[in-house]
Amino acid sequence: MSDDTWLLAAAGAHLKGAVGTARAAGGRVTVLAVGPRELADAAAAAAPDEVRWLETADDQPAEAWAAALAAEVATAAPHVVLAPSDPASRTLLAAAAVPLGAALLTRVLAVRPQDGALVVDRSSLGGAVVETLTVHGPLAAVLEDADDAPPAAAPATVAPLAPAGTPVPMQVKREPLPGAAAGIRDAARVVSVGRGLRSKDDLALLDGLLAALGAELACSMPVADDLGWVPKERYVGRSGQHIAPRLYLALGISGMPQHLEGVRDAKVVAAVNSDPAAPIFRTADYGVVGDLYEVVPALVAALAE
Ligand SMILES: Cc1cc2nc3c(=O)[nH]c(=O)nc-3n(C[C@H](O)[C@H](O)[C@H](O)COP(=O)(O)OP(=O)(O)OC[C@H]3O[C@@H](n4cnc5c(N)ncnc54)[C@H](O)[C@@H]3O)c2cc1C
Repeated sequence: MSDDTWLLAAAGAHLKGAVGTARAAGGRVTVLAVGPRELADAAAAAAPDEVRWLETADDQPAEAWAAALAAEVATAAPHVVLAPSDPASRTLLAAAAVPLGAALLTRVLAVRPQDGALVVDRSSLGGAVVETLTVHGPLAAVLEDADDAPPAAAPATVAPLAPAGTPVPMQVKREPLPGAAAGIRDAARVVSVGRGLRSKDDLALLDGLLAALGAELACSMPVADDLGWVPKERYVGRSGQHIAPRLYLALGISGMPQHLEGVRDAKVVAAVNSDPAAPIFRTADYGVVGDLYEVVPALVAALAE
């Protein structure tokens, strides 16, 4: 096992501060960029020690190379392998973790060597808590998105990589996002409803508000998943959509961390909840303690003025 760190990045990866995080993990930093040349160049600009680049074809995406690349990583035997949190990079990381026998952690913010072990800061409870773990032995970590870090040095050169293995044959099918998901992802204003709504028919109560605000409808997970009142593509949160509207108005939503994760990038969060102790009020920029069945018509009337 070397003291080096590898960063595995597939097309679509947001590298952001990933190279800086890799640098702090210790040793020589190698980025394995799997995708278009622009990805390799973006990695090189962040000044790792080395960029190895594998160009992929349409019918051979990064995932097809996961096993072959895992063998390359195993040969180098770095003590830390990192990946940004996009699905393809995570697939590369999981494959690489197996031959290394590495501990696999997600939502990692920082890694630093200390007294022969690795100290890992990791985001927990929907970002409310940072937990610090000590890992003995190799580590494979999915990074939480980081802020841009200024490059520390001159860009690295990019060397093409020819793995010894071959890609696994794959059938690739591309489909646009379902219309509903695309709608809430692009919307500037989103009105979202939770279990505070009593029945599916009561969704009609929101029509006037949606129209007045020019907003898209979203919901909490149970409203889509358990109750089936709103299409599943419209629920927001850890396992649902991650959205960044200018306004997110939560109606009858308690504000559990798993839900709030999906609106972390919203500019303004406003909430209506009948329970003054609802957790959503700890996050919301604006809050109304009240019954949504009274507050929504009042809001529509106020907007009409
Ligand atoms: C692994 C995992 C992943 C998850 N992922 C997600 C996810 O992606 N998205 C998600 O949403 N959840 C997710 N959850 C579920 C999450 O933990 C919560 O259970 C869920 O978000 C609660 O939904 P809710 O706020 O609509 O319902 P509740 O928690 O039941 O809250 C309803 C709220 O409505 C209020 N209310 C009731 N009546 C009224 C009224 N008349 N007027 C105003 N307010 C009223 C109540 O005070 C209460 O605060 C996940 C859970 C797990 C374990």
